[in-house]
Amino acid sequence: EVKRLETQVATLESEVVRLTKVRDEALLDVKAGKLRLADVVWKFTKFLGDLFLQVLKLLVIPLVVTSMICGITSIGDIRKIGKLGSRTIIYFMSTTTVAVFIGLMLVVIVQPGKATDDTFAFKDSKTASKENRDVVETLLAVVRGDEGDKGSGMFPENLILAAAQMNVMAVIVFSLLFGGALTTLGERGKPAIAFFDAANEAIMKMVHLAMICAPVGIFGLVASNIARNGGGSQLGEELTRLGYYAAVVLGGLVLHVLFLQLLMWMMTGRNPWQFMGQMSRAILTAMSTSSSSATLPISMECVSKAGVSDRTSRFVLPLGATINMDGTALYEAVAVVFIAQSSGIELSIAQLVVVMLTATLAAIGAAGIPEAGLVTMVIVLTAVGLPVTGIGSILAIDWFLDRMRTSVNVFGDMTGSVILDKMVGSSDEPNAKV
Ligand code: ASP
Repeated sequence: EVKRLETQVATLESEVVRLTKVRDEALLDVKAGKLRLADVVWKFTKFLGDLFLQVLKLLVIPLVVTSMICGITSIGDIRKIGKLGSRTIIYFMSTTTVAVFIGLMLVVIVQPGKATDDTFAFKDSKTASKENRDVVETLLAVVRGDEGDKGSGMFPENLILAAAQMNVMAVIVFSLLFGGALTTLGERGKPAIAFFDAANEAIMKMVHLAMICAPVGIFGLVASNIARNGGGSQLGEELTRLGYYAAVVLGGLVLHVLFLQLLMWMMTGRNPWQFMGQMSRAILTAMSTSSSSATLPISMECVSKAGVSDRTSRFVLPLGATINMDGTALYEAVAVVFIAQSSGIELSIAQLVVVMLTATLAAIGAAGIPEAGLVTMVIVLTAVGLPVTGIGSILAIDWFLDRMRTSVNVFGDMTGSVILDKMVGSSDEPNAKV
């Protein structure tokens, strides 16, 4: 009997060993299955985010080309630019520069990207290699390009190569010169101008379409980022940084509005608060549409009610809606420095000067439609050697900042029309010789 029971125990023991093995294998399978599922989900969200960034990059060159050519051709024959025309350009350039300056000062002082200890690393950043150059050298390199690189610089040997390398600055310079030349052709230039006008509208429609898909793309970028870096404290730190960044952009925008108000008060003697009230309908429209172009009819109406002559407003406001974007310029400068800070990259003074220059150009190149500034930010990022993927870190809050910067863009145009109307009066025909 004992022997029989012993044999039974032995059999049962071997059965236990076998079953344990089977169970362990099954557990491993379950785990692997789960991992595979997580992997698939991660890959898919990353795919959505990558695709969105790719579409943004795809649109940069066509958008900048058509927007630049249309902006410059809307001035009319460049050789006959009148008092109003030349002063408008001077006003646009100087106020945009002030905006970028305010943004840069704030972001360098507050350092929102260093608000938390952790950083995210870019593997493909080329910034480090450019850090040792001084200001003059860096600026010269921006204009002339890197030696042996036929696609770099503002006047590259090969424009197609420059576009392929995302050297958007060269494309901007070429488009401005090309558009300017087109305006001097008279009747013969008109079909080409009409072509670029239509092309511009078509590209804007495409950007609009991409932006409809933006929430999905943003979800993909943010989710895959969190999945890679882990949620928890890291996510909290990222949100803290983002909060500081948004506060810096908003603070800069407020300071710039104060500057514009002061300028307007000094130049025209108008009461700033009253002026703000008169412009409020346009500002609210800009906030709700995120588009300077869509706000144009309302801003025309507001400045007309404020006593600006039609001649001035018809020239300054449409041009301003395309090329004068103080809010966008300020935001781009802050965003790029923020991205560098939060990835632990120190930008040199020379690189900050490059940011200043390119942010101004990028704002000029941005069309007056939602999120156009996000697209042209590629210009500033690539100019200082930061990867375009950096945009992913600011996307989550961009829908809100877009509304705010658009309001400032529109406010800058309207302030300009009041100041220029006072300066030039109605005596000067736009496009008449000084
Ligand atoms: N949405 C802005 C505008 O229409 C442009 C931008 O994205 O910065 O003025």
